Amino acid sequence: MANEQVLTAEQVIERAKAYLSDEHIAFIRDAYQYAEDAHREQYRKSGEPYIIHPIQVAGILVDLEMDPATIAGGFLHDVVEDTSVTLDDLKNVFNEEVAMLVDGVTKLGKIKYKSQEEQQAENHRKMFVAMAQDIRVILIKLADRLHNMRTLKHLPQEKQRRISNETLEIFAPLAHRLGISKIKWELEDTALRYLNPQQYYRIVNLMKKKRAERELYVEKVVNEVRNRVEEVNIKADFSGRPKHIYSIYRKMAMQNKQFNEIYDLLAVRILVNSIKDCYAVLGIIHTCWKPMPGRFKDYIAMPKPNMYQSLHTTVIGPKGDPLEVQIRTFEMHEIAEYGIAAHWAYKEGKNVNDGASFEKKLSWFREILEFQNESNDAEEFMESLKIDLFSDMVFVFTPKGDVIELPSGSVPIDFSYRIHSEIGNKTIGAKVNGKMVTLDYKLRTGDIVEIMTSKHSYGPSQDWINLAQTSQAKHKIRQFFKKQRREENVEKGKELIEKEIKNLDFEVKDVLTAENLQKVADKFNFTNEEDMYAAVGYNGITALQVANRLTEKERKMRDQEEQVKNVQEVTAETKPYQGKKREAGVRVKGVDNLLIRLSKCCNPVPGDPIVGFITKGRGVSVHREDCPNVLTNEALDRLIPVEWEHEPQTQRRKEYNVEIEILGYDRRGLLNEVLQAVNETKTNISSVSGKSDRNKVATIHMAIFIQNINHLHKVVERIKQIRDIYSVRRVMN
Ligand code: MN
Repeated sequence: MANEQVLTAEQVIERAKAYLSDEHIAFIRDAYQYAEDAHREQYRKSGEPYIIHPIQVAGILVDLEMDPATIAGGFLHDVVEDTSVTLDDLKNVFNEEVAMLVDGVTKLGKIKYKSQEEQQAENHRKMFVAMAQDIRVILIKLADRLHNMRTLKHLPQEKQRRISNETLEIFAPLAHRLGISKIKWELEDTALRYLNPQQYYRIVNLMKKKRAERELYVEKVVNEVRNRVEEVNIKADFSGRPKHIYSIYRKMAMQNKQFNEIYDLLAVRILVNSIKDCYAVLGIIHTCWKPMPGRFKDYIAMPKPNMYQSLHTTVIGPKGDPLEVQIRTFEMHEIAEYGIAAHWAYKEGKNVNDGASFEKKLSWFREILEFQNESNDAEEFMESLKIDLFSDMVFVFTPKGDVIELPSGSVPIDFSYRIHSEIGNKTIGAKVNGKMVTLDYKLRTGDIVEIMTSKHSYGPSQDWINLAQTSQAKHKIRQFFKKQRREENVEKGKELIEKEIKNLDFEVKDVLTAENLQKVADKFNFTNEEDMYAAVGYNGITALQVANRLTEKERKMRDQEEQVKNVQEVTAETKPYQGKKREAGVRVKGVDNLLIRLSKCCNPVPGDPIVGFITKGRGVSVHREDCPNVLTNEALDRLIPVEWEHEPQTQRRKEYNVEIEILGYDRRGLLNEVLQAVNETKTNISSVSGKSDRNKVATIHMAIFIQNINHLHKVVERIKQIRDIYSVRRVMN
């Protein structure tokens, strides 16, 4: 197979005659003829007629002694992709099976590999196997890739490197998994030639130099063993085993060894008829030369995961150098070279098209795999191949081409949570292969999945837990709800406590200091204030209990102040606050000389409906009529009517401080636009602060100087015109 001689179609068909019936020969000849017609007038980069490529691919498959459908598939593998022939044409002219094989190869051709990350390479290999469905599709694809590698020199250098990389990461390991070492070695050696030509040719030259010496030595060893083996009447084939360039390169690179340190360069292979003979020959070898400890491997009793069986030993050879010896039966050797293809090799008389035999092969394959499951070093193989062939995984692409592995039955929600939990939580829809799908769409291998998210999403919905297939997604959704409820409770608890504090007639700001909160949280044995708020939120403790504790200190202070004030009040009555009375711009109807101040909780401005509140010893405070602080029952008794001294329109001199809260979608430049808008209304800003939450909602607090209610309306309307603003409101503290 390793020969690079270009075969004619006749030569390929001639070789197939060695194992196919006349009827089948006619069948594959038809396939060739059909392909030749379809590819007529097409040429490869090398300038040769295109048909040469499918002929070589079919030739490689004939060397593997594949069945007629696979050979036909080899001849026809590019017609659907590159010519006007359709799958239906193939179904009609040939049969369902040939069409299925060509379809599989065409689909695999669409998988583009670019990432060099190991995990991605692994997933791509799995995807190949999963998508292929029929192992013969992979065999055709391997033959296709092998011939492409042989003719790589006609492509530009950049393409050579990319294809060689892909070959090393995807195709050579696949050939290895399937045990087809012949193809694996050639793929690896050719890839190395393009990826690292210097090292490649250096090793080739070193091997050449040593060849004569090596051959002589091996001959001497072989003769000695042959005599002994013949003495005991065992029939055996001997060969000096050529080492492959890529494996020498890997050993030199990985183990940092010099060329002459790699002692299995010298290796002898002995093929015999039976397992019994294998062990007999091993005994002879070990009596001739001293075995090196730890180098004997019995892959007959314990086959390698890819079905490889053989005895390996290394002995100290006649010249004192280590010498590697491999002993196996002819049958094992065939499997060593052709792997799974050896089992699939077509034997006349056994019909592969018949379902029973197909099933038999699959069950044989399962058995091998299950047997392998018990040995540890087979674990990796099991993980990949077993899962891939018979299971329940789907492999889908991200829009960037990364492959994501999911259990079958997975839906876009599983995909989005696999990417990132934040993506999952913000998912609002999905596109598969460019089309919108519902969130319960069952993903299929090969799908390109694109998740649509929204910053404004309120998070997952409860029924996603049932839709999701992966425990990861389910877990993350549950976590979201758990966290969400906690946040709601914290929010609710905080509101309740603030309300109680106001009811107790204290300023929330004064009471809820970080220090005070921590102190009270400690007293109730909460780790932090949030836990305390949450507990109030779900009624673990009442808001009043907490508020009482929180206001303890303030209450004491107020009691003391009250006593002082009572004394001052007496003074105040005799000495009216002249000169100050008009400062607020408000008067109490029919009454003069009262101390009047505008409340800081609702910041009334001229034009607002207002009401006065008689404080204990601090005059009248003016509130907006809708201020919650004057709407309590106890407050009602102490209200008196007040009015603005001027009509709103004429009120120009004085400016009032008003706090507003602006909510909007947090994007770059939002705050700037707000500031600019306010500026345009010729309004002074006394303070501004902004924050953004995890839902990308920006909250801007701004204190501005306002002349009257009309002025305020103007500012608010102007802010509302800015894009992405959700709401603007006046703040009541
Ligand atoms: Mn091709």
